[in-house]
Amino acid sequence: MPIYEYQCHDCGHVFSKLWRSLSAAQEAAPPPCPQCGGEHTARIVSNVAVLDGMGGLTPSEQAAVNRQAERDARILPKSKIEAFRKAKREGGK
Ligand SMILES: [Zn+2]
Repeated sequence: MPIYEYQCHDCGHVFSKLWRSLSAAQEAAPPPCPQCGGEHTARIVSNVAVLDGMGGLTPSEQAAVNRQAERDARILPKSKIEAFRKAKREGGK
């Protein structure tokens, strides 16, 4: 069963969710944040080469990205990465 990692854009919490199947994970909406209950979560991806260019990741975020990359080579569309970066800048510590 695949484990996907997500980050909350509201509080920055990183969490993982075990899905019963790949298709379930891909079809479902991102789960709400278990820490603050926020629904602005997004899957953390995976392609380290892409994410290396983002900068600004904390060590724990980078570690999560690296773990994800080992499991899953899929990458987000660039537009999603841009949105993620923007949310990080505006939302976030
Ligand atoms: Zn949260």
